[in-house]
Parts: sequence; structure tokens; C-alpha cells
Amino acid sequence: AKSAGKNQYQLFDEETDRMHVRKLELERDLRKALANNELCIYYQPKWDAELDCLTGMEALLRWNHPRLGMVSPAEFIPIAEETGLIVSMTRWVLNEVCIQNREWQKRDIVHVCVSVNMSIRVFESGMLCEMVEESLQESNIDSGSLELEITESIAMYDVQDTIRQLQHLKSLGVRVSMDDFGTGYSSLGNLDEIPIDALKIDQMFIRQSAQPSKQAIISTIIAIAGHLKLEVVAEGVETEEQIGFLQSRGCRVMQGYYYGKPMDTETLEAWLIANNE
Ligand code: C2E
Ligand code: CA
Ligand code: CA
Ligand code: CA
Repeated sequence: AKSAGKNQYQLFDEETDRMHVRKLELERDLRKALANNELCIYYQPKWDAELDCLTGMEALLRWNHPRLGMVSPAEFIPIAEETGLIVSMTRWVLNEVCIQNREWQKRDIVHVCVSVNMSIRVFESGMLCEMVEESLQESNIDSGSLELEITESIAMYDVQDTIRQLQHLKSLGVRVSMDDFGTGYSSLGNLDEIPIDALKIDQMFIRQSAQPSKQAIISTIIAIAGHLKLEVVAEGVETEEQIGFLQSRGCRVMQGYYYGKPMDTETLEAWLIANNE
């Protein structure tokens, strides 16, 4: 038993080493990923289940690493945040998304608002407003066609400064939504002071929405959104049961594999045609 324990320890040790080496490699390569065109953006539909139409899309970053293949944003975004690369990456995403969306609108392929995920680090950098204004100008897109998704973790930074930046963004006409709602350091206390347009119910709740206790939480989030005059979006919707439940509680906008996975632009354009948009 003693030697087995030792082996297990060694295995664990090697595993930790491998993960460490991978992280160092990703960290090193991420610096070149942007310049080498290894990053691309996938788009996932947001669907209005009541009107049965597309209401928006979310931009999700992808990294096609030359040796490791597709690396998940769940793995490389934290590295980008630690190294500060997230600021230039977000600048690139904002530009790409606005130019792509303008292109779709011009070609009359689709006219919706596209959202971009925003790390707290970008707020801290103090460059967000400038970056957004630049993207809007360069693409010449309507500001209402851009949305930023923030998380409750913004409360970890200076809340007052975040609110100031959000107010500036709102004055430009950009939309803001609160992502992963219900999982963060829930600052319900000042939710009413943060200028947002929508709440996104975290997919963890949707996944477990057969449980009465999770149903209670979902209903409460929908009620809060209603009282604060915010739209509500359900994330990670995969089944008809989930849709039925959400609609019965008054949530009409859904995002999830049931409607469409995140897609590259080519696949998305085919999806739009297939879905009559
Ligand atoms: P998120 O913003 O909460 O995005 C939702 C995630 O859930 C996405 O994972 C999406 O592909 C996945 N998803 C959507 N529908 C379903 C479903 O029905 N079932 C399941 N199981 N999953 C679903 P993804 O694309 O791997 O992104 C992970 C996270 O990485 C995002 O979570 C976001 O926090 C971050 N991220 C992605 N792109 C960016 C970016 O450009 N900037 C920043 N700062 N973060 C990003
Ligand atoms: Ca339709
Ligand atoms: Ca998001
Ligand atoms: Ca989310």
C-alpha cells in the first residue's frame, strides 16, 4: 500500500508538471497568437422563443494553436488576464466583431446586436471606452449593434469607477449585460446602480432546472430582472423541457446548443439561411 501511495504521488506530480509545462507554453505562444492570425471568433445565436426569431449573437474567442490544436478560452483567457495580453486581445475582438457585423448588415445577411465578453482587467486598464469608440468609428456601425457582457466580478475592482465607465459606454449607445448572473460575488446590493440592459442567467442553473430549488432561483432572477426593467437571457439551453419551463416563468430569450452552437462565420451564414433569417 505504501509503494502504491508513492506511485500515486509520482503520477500526481508528473501530471502537475505537465500542466505547468503546458501553461508556460501557452503563455509564451499567446503573445504571438494575435500576430500569427491564430485567433478567431465564433458566434452563437440568441433566440427569442416567443417571437421565434434571432435577437442577437455572442462573440466567443477561439485559439487554433499550431501544435496543440483548439485551445479553449476557459484555458487561455485566464492566462491572457494574468499577462495583461487581454487588453490587446479585447481590442482586436471589438474591432473584428464590429467590422464583421457591419459587413453582415451591409450585405443584408443579418441585423442584430453582437455581444463581446469583457474581462475586469480591461476595465482596470482604463482603455475600454477609447477602444470601444475606436471600433465603432472604424466600422461605422450603429452603437446599438454592440453589447458588452460583464460579470459580477467587476465588483472586485473599484465599483464606482466601473459604474463611471459603464455610464460613459451607455452614453455612446452601447448595450451592457450582466453575464453568469447568480454565481459571482453577488453584489445584489448595488445591482440597481450598475447601468445594464440585461441579465444572463448562468447555465449552471439551467442545467439543473428540473430541481425545484433551482427553479426557485431562476424564477427569482427573472422577477428581479422584471422589477429592474432588465431583459433576461437564459444561457446553456439544451432541451425542450428547459425551454418550456423558462417560457412558463416569463423568460423569452434563450441561448444554447438547442438553438445553435458557437459557429465560425461561414457555418453561421449557412445556419442563418437554414433558419430563415
Ligand atoms: P461565457 O461568456 O459564459 O460563454 C458561454 C460558454 O458556454 C461558451 O463557452 C459557450 O460555448 C458555452 N455554451 C453555450 N451554450 C451552451 C450549451 O447549451 N451547453 C453547454 N454545455 N455549453 C454552452 P466557451 O466558448 O468555451 O467560452 C468560455 C468562456 O470564455 C466564456 O464563458 C467567457 O467567459 C470566456 N470568453 C470567451 N471569449 C471571450 C472573449 O473574447 N473575451 C473574454 N474576456 N472572455 C471570453
Ligand atoms: Ca425566423
Ligand atoms: Ca458571455
Ligand atoms: Ca455566461
